[in-house]
Amino acid sequence: MSDNLFDLLTAGISDPEAVAIETQAGERIRYGDLIARSGRMANALAAFGVQPGDRVAVQVEKSVQAIILYLATLRAGAVFLPLNTGYTPAEIGYFLGDAEPRVFVCDPARQEALRGPTEAAGARMVTLDAEGRGSLTDAADAAPEAFATVARDSDDLAALLYTSGTTGRSKGAMLTHGNLVSNAQVLREAWRFTAQDVLIHALPIFHTHGLFVATNVVLFSGASMIFLPKFDVDRIFEGMARATVLMGVPTFYVRLLQDDMLNAETTANMRLFVSGSAPLLAETHREWQARTGHAILERYGMTETNMNASNPYDGERIAGTVGLPLPGTEIVVTDPETGAELPRGEIGMIEVRGPNVFKGYWRMPEKTAAELRDNGFFITGDLGKFDERGYLHIVGRGKDLIITGGYNVYPKEIETEIDALPGVVESAVIGLPHRDFGEGVTAVVVPTGSPALTEADVLAPLEGRLAKFKQPKRVLFMDELPRNTMGKVQKNLLRDRFAGLYD
Ligand code: ATP
Ligand code: MG
Repeated sequence: MSDNLFDLLTAGISDPEAVAIETQAGERIRYGDLIARSGRMANALAAFGVQPGDRVAVQVEKSVQAIILYLATLRAGAVFLPLNTGYTPAEIGYFLGDAEPRVFVCDPARQEALRGPTEAAGARMVTLDAEGRGSLTDAADAAPEAFATVARDSDDLAALLYTSGTTGRSKGAMLTHGNLVSNAQVLREAWRFTAQDVLIHALPIFHTHGLFVATNVVLFSGASMIFLPKFDVDRIFEGMARATVLMGVPTFYVRLLQDDMLNAETTANMRLFVSGSAPLLAETHREWQARTGHAILERYGMTETNMNASNPYDGERIAGTVGLPLPGTEIVVTDPETGAELPRGEIGMIEVRGPNVFKGYWRMPEKTAAELRDNGFFITGDLGKFDERGYLHIVGRGKDLIITGGYNVYPKEIETEIDALPGVVESAVIGLPHRDFGEGVTAVVVPTGSPALTEADVLAPLEGRLAKFKQPKRVLFMDELPRNTMGKVQKNLLRDRFAGLYD
């Protein structure tokens, strides 16, 4: 047996009759079906000219057939490259040009719009729609089931996953079979997954959270998932009656909390709620616990490192922290200038090392050299600190750090103060160009509407609580914060929009 993720996955399947995926339409896909259907599709990919090491780029709606395509790509020894369904043809052009895939699988509805970029990249276009139909499925249906999975070393590429592009242009993270296998195994143990588990899968599958964390952990456990095309409050409540685990981004939990159905009874069958991809407000954690009796388990990860820290399954899950380093993963907090490790309690750059850490950025040797140290530590770009109990706190991204009049201001500290004020839903604190201070601390606040809030209502209570240089110079109001599909606040958009505030 090779180190191919698919080989290791199938070696662990004890019951081919067990259901792996259940769809909203009532389709039940067994583990044996996954093997058979991925064999047909791997043959189809090979017939399209896909060779080991080739990239298979995919921009399709979430479907079972898309999961089969992921498994088939692994079996073919090729590199799976999923793309956000929201990307425009121009954006797709960048990714295809950068990755030079052999095959590009897209929705038939977008075929015409995407033909130009596909041809320019020298890729072959095949189609797959939300119902799982298209030229890819036609070819797979006609192909034989038997396929000898291509042997792979743990160091060979399994996926090329582009980062979310929250801080700039997306970078292609090269993830190996070993990266994905080690993380799936560690998470299965850490979160106590068994074949009895039923996961509600409502995340997109073009991102590490829905594709690797959710899907790989389920498959490596022989568990099953209720596969929802997207987040839908009613479908989640329906699923919770018989599911055991939900994985979500913080906005899932915020929205579920707005529903009166959420209580201890409607969540009684569930054993675990996991949150990640963006910070979960401590207040959301506390409200959830009060309403349901469940403590949300927050974890931390990123495209480049898979998951690296998690609150404990047994033991205290502390609101506002991302928990402890996962087994096998080392995390250090360093001085951003010198790289020297800082004492516990001090804020610095979070660095991560372990079998989960990627191999480098695709075709960006300089960026890889700048962010991946020779000793194996990856410089995440996130700032944080360890508390006295060894729990990691993320205070924000290095790129969001505000330097005002020579002082460092961590937005999270100000946001936490503002979020606790009456009449505030949430806030984002950003630095905007300022003639005297370099950057002016600026708060963007989403008000509840009652009580009505003025700028002075927000600023006055901060006076006694924050040093003068941390207090916002201005407070702006918005109905909601701009977020991407993973629920991440897009501070770059806020900075662009309000760039001239202090001119
Ligand atoms: P880009 O690197 O292109 O700017 P991105 O960093 O948002 O985009 P992802 O890899 O999808 O792309 O996201 C990883 C980032 O998400 C982490 O570096 C961190 O900033 C944030 N993140 C993930 N989980 C958490 C969490 N539990 N709490 C706070 N932030 C989190
Ligand atoms: Mg990033």
